[in-house]
Amino acid sequence: MNPCRCDLAVLGAGCFATLLVQRLRGLGWNGRVVLVDRRLRFDQAQRWCWWRHRNDPPANVDGITREWSRYVFRTGNGRWQSRELRHWSYVHVDARRFFAAAHAAWQADEGIDLRPGVTAAGAIRRPDGRWSVSTSAGELDAAMVVDCRSLARQLPRQEFAPGDGWWQSFAGRVLPEAAVPLDERTFCLMDLDAGTRAALGFGYLLGLGDGDTLVEYTMFDSGPVDRRRLNLALDDYLQRLGHGSGSARVLDEEHGWLPMTAGSGPAPSASAGIDGPLRAGLAGGAARPASGYAFGRMMRQASVLARALTGGEDPAPALARAHHAWIDRLDGVFLRTLGCRPELARPSFARLLEGLTGDQLASFMAERPGPATLARVLCVLPKRPFLQGAWRQWRRRNEIAPAEVELATMRRAPS
Ligand SMILES: Cc1cc2nc3c(=O)[nH]c(=O)nc-3n(C[C@H](O)[C@H](O)[C@H](O)COP(=O)(O)OP(=O)(O)OC[C@H]3O[C@@H](n4cnc5c(N)ncnc54)[C@H](O)[C@@H]3O)c2cc1C
Repeated sequence: MNPCRCDLAVLGAGCFATLLVQRLRGLGWNGRVVLVDRRLRFDQAQRWCWWRHRNDPPANVDGITREWSRYVFRTGNGRWQSRELRHWSYVHVDARRFFAAAHAAWQADEGIDLRPGVTAAGAIRRPDGRWSVSTSAGELDAAMVVDCRSLARQLPRQEFAPGDGWWQSFAGRVLPEAAVPLDERTFCLMDLDAGTRAALGFGYLLGLGDGDTLVEYTMFDSGPVDRRRLNLALDDYLQRLGHGSGSARVLDEEHGWLPMTAGSGPAPSASAGIDGPLRAGLAGGAARPASGYAFGRMMRQASVLARALTGGEDPAPALARAHHAWIDRLDGVFLRTLGCRPELARPSFARLLEGLTGDQLASFMAERPGPATLARVLCVLPKRPFLQGAWRQWRRRNEIAPAEVELATMRRAPS
């Protein structure tokens, strides 16, 4: 059978891939795209939230269902506090609606071929410069390949050495009644009264409309936390909030693990050394090291990559410019400090929550802090341990040879 020819092969048709194809079409690029994805369905419950400035141009993202302008938090003393978001908002995308809208548009576009239930094994660059992609449904012959395959769905095995990073493990349930009464414009960013089962454990609550509430329990730890332990922690949290254990009707569930590390780097560093296809999305280092937030970065990555691909620019350096390297370095210090001194994690997050205004925290989370916000962040964090963390991080970066860093990056990439 002849390989199927296309201009662009996209491996993994998840969140990033969808944003990328939408951006490409938005720029008027009408090449032939084949997207393969091992999953058959795109209607599982999932959501992505990100911080948006009110003066930003329209996001052009389908599936936005909520936008909040205030958050609440607790720092361990039982007292709820709140912060207003005056120039920012916290935006919620419903993954089901996001995919449904994109797939409906693609059905009407003869140049886009989405192939669900097809697993991609890998891609090899041929001497003629084109790519051969092997998939469970035959070979693709592509002028360009972008690899957006996600990390493994199973519990990851790797543990981080103290300071090298954390795993963010989380489990959430959508319940038909509010665990904490949240009005239309308020969400709960961090409830540090949720328990102390890991270096850091906290609750996160989103009111999704009609009384439905997502209640999530998140842990930051050196190793990933298995689903059973996560669910026990979530049960415990629900009880603390006043829900009887297991009595609540569950409308949806979600869980996941995200590596938080400043060592995983952006995609180009991982792909440049092995001459593999360009990696992007979460598996390409889109998650912010200190928070695990990825959606904002993926939107930026998708825009710069689409511009590079349509403009004939080398995509790898363009991708690397999609976010600031200094933010990753700052996050590296944060992770190194708290990884080596886990007892400081809760008080440090509490200081950030209490010491920053809503807009300051939002701009910091969105990777767009001004000098005043940055100064405020540095001011509220405990000085001595963070200076020691900065020193340790500097020594660590200079101890490891670049080749070793690259290897570590590749080991963390999905197979
Ligand atoms: C439950 C959950 C909630 C999250 N919430 C947020 C949030 O609120 N805000 C935020 O910023 N980030 C969030 N994230 C992190 C991140 O934004 C998401 O994981 C996002 O889906 C990553 O997009 P992606 O395109 O990189 O990966 P995915 O959306 O996971 O897409 C990758 C695709 O690759 C496919 N695939 C994998 N292997 C193969 C293969 N061999 N062949 C073919 N296809 C393959 C998968 O089926 C999948 O469809 C969350 C993550 C999870 C798991």
